[in-house]
Amino acid sequence: MKGRKALFIDRDGTLILEKEYLHRPEMVEFISGAILALKKAVEAGFVIVMVTNQSGVGRGYYALEDVEKVHAYLAKEMAMHNVSFIKIYVAPEAPDAPSRGRKPSPQFLFDARDEFNIDLERSYMIGDKLIDLQCGWNAGVRRSLLVRTGYGKEVEQQEKQKLRDAVVVNDLCEAVEWLLRDNTSENRV
Ligand SMILES: [Mg+2]
Repeated sequence: MKGRKALFIDRDGTLILEKEYLHRPEMVEFISGAILALKKAVEAGFVIVMVTNQSGVGRGYYALEDVEKVHAYLAKEMAMHNVSFIKIYVAPEAPDAPSRGRKPSPQFLFDARDEFNIDLERSYMIGDKLIDLQCGWNAGVRRSLLVRTGYGKEVEQQEKQKLRDAVVVNDLCEAVEWLLRDNTSENRV
C-alpha cells in the first residue's frame, strides 16, 4: 500500500511572521493566506506536519510550555478553517547542544514516516532557511521549497549555489500552488 503524502512545514517565517524568539500567542501573526493554503493541501490529500527548531528554550529565553501555548493557539486558529497538523515536532535544544531532531537533521521526518505511514518520496518540505531545505533533502523528500518570507529573501541572495535543487517561491501560498501542480503531474506519469 502506498504511504500518505505529507507537507512538512517550518513555523517561524514560513507559517507565521518571523519575530525573534516569539513565545506568546499574542505575538503570532499568520502569513497572509497561509491557513487557506494548507487547507488546499489537505483537500488534495496531504497531511500537514510542522517541524520547528526552538532554540530559545535551550538558551533559557522561554519554556517549552510557552512553545506549547503558541502551538495550541495555532491549532485553534487553524481549526476554525478545518485544518490541523497531524503532529508538531519541536527541537528545543540550543544550536550547540546535542539534539535528536534539530534541523537540518531529518530525524523528525523519519519519525513521522514511521508513525503515520508517510511516503517521503511523495512529500515536500517548505521553509525559509537553508536548514529547512537540507532537512527535507536529508530525509529524501520529493522537493524542498524556499519561501521568500522570513529569512528566505536573504537566503536566496546569499546561498545561490546551495539552492540549485530548491524551488524558490514568494510565500506558503505559492509553495502550495507549486507543489499541487507538481503533484498532479506526478500522478499523470
Ligand atoms: Mg523559519
